[in-house]
Amino acid sequence: MPTPQLSVVIPVFNEEASLPDLFARLYPTLDALGVRYEVVFVNDGSRDRSAALLREQRQRRPDTTTIVLFNANYGQHQAIVAGFERCTGERVVTMDADLQNPPEEIAKLLAAMDKGHDYVGGVRRNREDSWWRRWASKAMNRLRERLTQIRMTDQGCMLRAYSREIVDAVAESREVSTFIPALAYTFASNPTEVDVAHAERIAGRSNYPLYKLIRLNFDLITGFSLVPLQQFSRFGMLVSALALATYVVVIAYRLFLFDWHGANWQEATAVFWDRDILAFFLIGMMLFGLGLIGEYVGRIYQQVRTRPRYTIRAVLERDAGKVPER
Ligand code: UDP
Ligand code: MG
Repeated sequence: MPTPQLSVVIPVFNEEASLPDLFARLYPTLDALGVRYEVVFVNDGSRDRSAALLREQRQRRPDTTTIVLFNANYGQHQAIVAGFERCTGERVVTMDADLQNPPEEIAKLLAAMDKGHDYVGGVRRNREDSWWRRWASKAMNRLRERLTQIRMTDQGCMLRAYSREIVDAVAESREVSTFIPALAYTFASNPTEVDVAHAERIAGRSNYPLYKLIRLNFDLITGFSLVPLQQFSRFGMLVSALALATYVVVIAYRLFLFDWHGANWQEATAVFWDRDILAFFLIGMMLFGLGLIGEYVGRIYQQVRTRPRYTIRAVLERDAGKVPER
């Protein structure tokens, strides 16, 4: 089997409503590129008919279609890792299965790679998602920009292209909780970005309710930055220093109490001093810090157990010898 020039890796979770349209648009687009390609679908434990639809598609295009079937739902990023482990192309493109990333844009990514870039990130200029998703994404992009060394405009865009070297490095990283665009970026030597179109989800619904989105962003921040932990200890030091200063002032005040005959400034201080509020503030910060440490410790725990990150029920390899039905 000659190695494909292009692999397209697509995670699939409950996408029965989108898959027929995806097949209808993706394959002709790839055929038109005139490169040897393969498509690797990773079914992430879908509970609908997605797996059956993928099998049907493989019957139709056995020469270019590989399917990895997970036993259960391990998440979008693990599904991509599984795709990376099995794809063989010289270049690898990731995209979503719901057609929010138009397959027609793949050519743009490849054109950027032709110019010598080993990592091409898509940027959704006109993002078609709800206002709160757009707002949350912006906030998270800004936070990640400040807390990590990773420079990208649109971290949530999964329409991206990677060189073989980067894909191998990602596949070798034995990370339990990860965020592929960021991890891949750490291995890139010449990254770039291109604007890509974005479409509304026309069928099915988002697999990311708010809480799952928060979990994912914790993966991103804890996976690539120790700054939250460090900030927390800095805050602790600041509080201790302030407490110490207060103590010195209070003692000094008591020492000189007898000599005091100026204006009554204790009452003024009392206006700002509310022990309950301050205590609640500190307790809040402590709980937050504790939780933050928990986020890291939890991930360390998962990592040291070195359980398999996912289990695969079956891999249906593409069969280059078979002629497609069409
Ligand atoms: N996905 C997945 N496993 C999950 C959640 C999502 O494989 O646990 C896939 C999903 O099928 C889609 C892509 O990841 O191909 C992005 O998911 P979705 O479109 O629901 O996310 P959104 O566009 O709302 O961010
Ligand atoms: Mg989507």
